[in-house]
Amino acid sequence: MKENFLLRGIEVSQGVAIGKAFLLKRSKVEVSKYSQIPPEEIPGEVERFKAAIEETRRNLVAVREKIQQKGFQEASHIMDAQLMIIEDRALVDRTIQHIEEDQIDATGALKNTLQDIHKAFEDIGDEYLRERKSDIDFLGERIMRNLLGKEQEFIGRIQDKVILVANDLSPVDTANLDVTKVLGFVTDRGGKTSHTAIMARALEIPAVVGLESITQEVNTGDMVIVDGIIGVVIVNPTPETLREYADKKLRYEDLEKELFKYKQLPAETKDGFRIKVYANIELVEELPSVLEHGAEGIGLYRTEFLYLNRKNLPTEEEHFAIYKSVVEKISPYPVTIRTIDLGGDKFISQIELAEEMNPAMGLRAIRFCLKEVDIFKTQLRAILRASAFGKVRLMFPMISGFQEIVQIKSILQEVKEDLVKKNQSFDSELEIGIMIEIPSAVTIADLLAREVDFFSIGTNDLIQYSLAIDRVNEHVSYLYEPLHPAVLRLISNVINAAHNAGIRVSMCGEMAGESMYVPILVGLGLDELSMNALSILKVKKMIRSVSYRESREFIKEIYKMYTASEIESYLRQETLNHLTG
Ligand code: PEP
Ligand code: MG
Repeated sequence: MKENFLLRGIEVSQGVAIGKAFLLKRSKVEVSKYSQIPPEEIPGEVERFKAAIEETRRNLVAVREKIQQKGFQEASHIMDAQLMIIEDRALVDRTIQHIEEDQIDATGALKNTLQDIHKAFEDIGDEYLRERKSDIDFLGERIMRNLLGKEQEFIGRIQDKVILVANDLSPVDTANLDVTKVLGFVTDRGGKTSHTAIMARALEIPAVVGLESITQEVNTGDMVIVDGIIGVVIVNPTPETLREYADKKLRYEDLEKELFKYKQLPAETKDGFRIKVYANIELVEELPSVLEHGAEGIGLYRTEFLYLNRKNLPTEEEHFAIYKSVVEKISPYPVTIRTIDLGGDKFISQIELAEEMNPAMGLRAIRFCLKEVDIFKTQLRAILRASAFGKVRLMFPMISGFQEIVQIKSILQEVKEDLVKKNQSFDSELEIGIMIEIPSAVTIADLLAREVDFFSIGTNDLIQYSLAIDRVNEHVSYLYEPLHPAVLRLISNVINAAHNAGIRVSMCGEMAGESMYVPILVGLGLDELSMNALSILKVKKMIRSVSYRESREFIKEIYKMYTASEIESYLRQETLNHLTG
């Protein structure tokens, strides 16, 4: 075996792990060609299929229980989704239809149905949902094994601490895994939101996924290094590489420990300029991590998840129960709840949206809400009611013009009046804000600022719309430059307009969580930054090491530059030389 054999993948959980590989071999049941069956065998075949489905359902319920006992909330949601799929007409009825209409056996019919579902998933824009494709594969494999009377495969007993190498991991694997024995995860398949990635982050175990062929390159017992910082795996390292990585591992762990010092300290520059550091969340399960990393509140609570993976619309009570629990858990800190931003790259399953040529510019977010006013009102009522239990801020996405705010305010007023009539309490001082993520909103930021209590800059979309780059299109991702002089000028215009009107301005796009950009974000004058919880301590550390005055001077210098790369090299050079320290 070659020494120092290096493979590159996607880093999904930070850290360095060094240890012996444990290769999880999984054999797939082979279904050769389906066979035609005579009409009299059809009812029996349908029964056989139904029995396999029932057995799989029982297996899944048992696994979900095991996962819940282990406290893996998100994995248990994946099991819920699998249980939903197994009861879904798309899977069961379609397979029965194949058996009856094509007159083929149950295994062949199931294989056909799984292929159809697979194809449908490939066209989904949303990365999270697309990656659920592998969950369907695992589910299909389970049903197939039950159908053929084959045993389900389990991860064998792991004796020592190992690096787990697999094609992919399923929630079932996780349920059967003694995670205290796992030093790192490496897989052929998967992306940032695959099950392995989610688990690895929850367990804080280094992981690299999407390596494509790692299971072919590694045998159980081989020495493996997992670099979850840059997404590299090294098989059979030389003693020198091993030493190098043992050092890197120590340095990383020291840095992590050191970062926790910043948890209790305010995010304040050396010359006393205070910035609020908030977290972005999607799920209630993220709250412990948010608090553990010292967030001062939630700057962006994305609420789309409530509408995904289900057949009916969430009720007001469902919305309310979840918002109330988030508000109470974060109290006395504020929670900025953003009304739904469905459409575009955020797929919705139960509402029939028209097929759009350009979904990112289509009927998404606030446009959708102003059309489907009842759906909008349900969410507004729930948010207002939750505001009686703590500090809530209400935020609207994708505002492109003044008229939208007028419409929103009138709907909000109706909802408030109705709540008053029904004697339901809410915070009458509730602040409202808007996301600034469309260039037209930047241009008229002075007009919009008069109408709201705060702005939050959504750089993910603002960059997409201002530079004309589809944010999910990998072919143009090289053009996606947060430091583009145009982007920096847009941000600066928004901040000036907000401050002239006396309102606060936050940033909640990915750019806000990039610690390297802190001198720019501070220099431009943002009041608040909201980011994923794992970035908070690094950003705080950086804020505490720069000066506001010097950062403002720095902005004047970069305003003279023409390209993002010029700005980036200057930023790196100045950060090393004198901006920090
Ligand atoms: C943004 O666009 O920057 C943003 C924070 O919203 P989302 O990523 O949910 O579109
Ligand atoms: Mg956005």
